[in-house]
Formats: sequence, C-alpha cells, structure tokens
Amino acid sequence: MTRLAGKTALITGAARGIGLAFAKAYVTEGARVAIADIDIQRARDAASEIGEAALAIEMDVTNLQSIDEAVANTAAHFGLIDILINNAAIFTAAPIVEIERMDYDRVFDINVAGTLFTMQAVARHMIEKGTRGRIINMASQAGRRGEPLVAIYCASKAAIISLTQSAGLDLISYGINVNAIAPGVVDGEHWDGVDAFFAKHEGKPPGQKKREVAATVPYGRMGRADDLTGMAVFLASDDANYIVAQTYNVDGGNWMS
Ligand code: NAD
Repeated sequence: MTRLAGKTALITGAARGIGLAFAKAYVTEGARVAIADIDIQRARDAASEIGEAALAIEMDVTNLQSIDEAVANTAAHFGLIDILINNAAIFTAAPIVEIERMDYDRVFDINVAGTLFTMQAVARHMIEKGTRGRIINMASQAGRRGEPLVAIYCASKAAIISLTQSAGLDLISYGINVNAIAPGVVDGEHWDGVDAFFAKHEGKPPGQKKREVAATVPYGRMGRADDLTGMAVFLASDDANYIVAQTYNVDGGNWMS
C-alpha cells in the first residue's frame, strides 16, 4: 500500500468531507499531504489527527496571493509538490428566475477561478522543478447534465470538465497529467446543506430529499467519501501515466440512471 511513497500532495478544501478522505488515503499510500482550506482551524484539527505526514495550510482559492503562499509554504515544508487535488468548492441552489448575480460570482470564483489559478500556480511550480506531476480536479455529475434548481453549480462543474480537457492538453507536454473525477451524490456535510435547501424549497421534512436521491442511485445507496479514494490514488499513481485530460465517473451508476 505505498503507491504514492515519497510524493507530496496539496489538496484544497481538505479540512473535511471528500478532500479529507483523499488526504487520509494518500498518507496510507505513503504520501505527505498539505491540507489546504479556508477553515484553518478545521484543517489544523485534520492535520493533527493524521499526524506528521500532514500539514495544515490556510488558503483561500479565490485569492491569488493566498494561492501563491499556499504553494510556497507547501514546497518549503515538503520540498516539492508532486500532486494537486483541486477539491475546494461550494454549492448553491435557486430557480433560474431567482438567481442572484452575487451567488453566481461566488460559485464561479471558488469552483472555477479557484481551480484554474491553483492549477496554474502549481503547474508553474512543477514546470520550474521539472516535476512530472499530477493534477486532479473535482468535477461532478452535475457538470454532465442539467439539474433543476442547481444551474450555477452545474455550470461551474461543466467548466471544470472543460478546463480539465484544455489544461490536460496544455500541460502534458511538460509531463504533467491533468484529469478529473466526477462523483454522483456523496453523503456528508455538503449534502446536509443541499438537503436543507431542498427541504425549505420543496417543503419536505429534513432528510427526505437525501433519501429520495439515494433511491435513484443504481448502486443502491449514496456515495461515501471513501468510495472516491481509489480513483484519486490511481490517477496520482504510475498506473495512470498514459491518462490525459479525462473525467472519470465514480457515481454508483448515477450517470446511467
Ligand atoms: P464540502 O463542502 O464538505 O467541503 C468543501 C471544503 O472546501 C470545506 O472544507 C470548505 O471549508 C472548503 N472551501 C470552501 N471555500 C473555500 C475557499 N475559498 N478556499 C479554500 N477552501 C474552501 O464538500 P465535499 O462534499 O467534500 O465535496 C468535495 C468536492 O467534490 C467539491 O469539489 C464538490 O463540488 C465535489 N462533489 C461533491 C459531491 C457530493 O455529493 N458531496 C458530488 C459531486 C462532486
């Protein structure tokens, strides 16, 4: 279980949820990880739970200076960055006729610009150091097709799939592989917020939306963060050397349903 021995990963939004599961899986595979998050207290708690292979980094992916500092601090602590997972994102929901410009700007700033400029900063670092690095972006089934009430989030995740294709083609000439993972519905605090929105909007009791969504997954349940770690390890490993600019569904068959 040391497919990532000697590697260092910077994972954004890793203080909780899927990002934290990635961090733990990478450490199990022999990597060291920077847990980068806007919620520094939670990032510190996560890093101390993992141990000395983890470093908490305060990072706001919407702020170019914060991105540069996160890259510099991770490199200063670990020497190099071999792997980036662009995982930080937010969710918002509203009917098209009620979408506010402010919400659009915030979602695109974090989900799209945050991914693009973190990818840029880490790619510059990898190119400078001659690292044949890996970049993994977090897309979503929401980026594959429209969903009612979720237009901004869906559009932001479609942009991630597109960015992954273009960046993948740009950066492979430096030996940097860029790919993405498209989960379906993954239980956790993120989904608690989604459930609360739909409970309010559709007048359903709390928890009902989650149960309804789970019932649509062909696998028979919602995803768990740990369901995604195998793909994240694979894409960062030597087994994925020849994989470029792809987005992989890890969704219990959701895409087909
Ligand atoms: P989450 O909401 O539990 O965690 C997101 C993390 O990002 C939090 O720790 C938060 O503090 C951090 N963050 C938010 N804004 C930030 C910023 N400006 N700078 C740095 N960090 C910031 O999310 P999750 O459910 O673990 O999802 C992780 C990724 O997977 C996201 O990209 C999400 O869109 C994607 N995804 C999730 C699901 C799902 O059902 N949970 C499905 C498909 C895709």
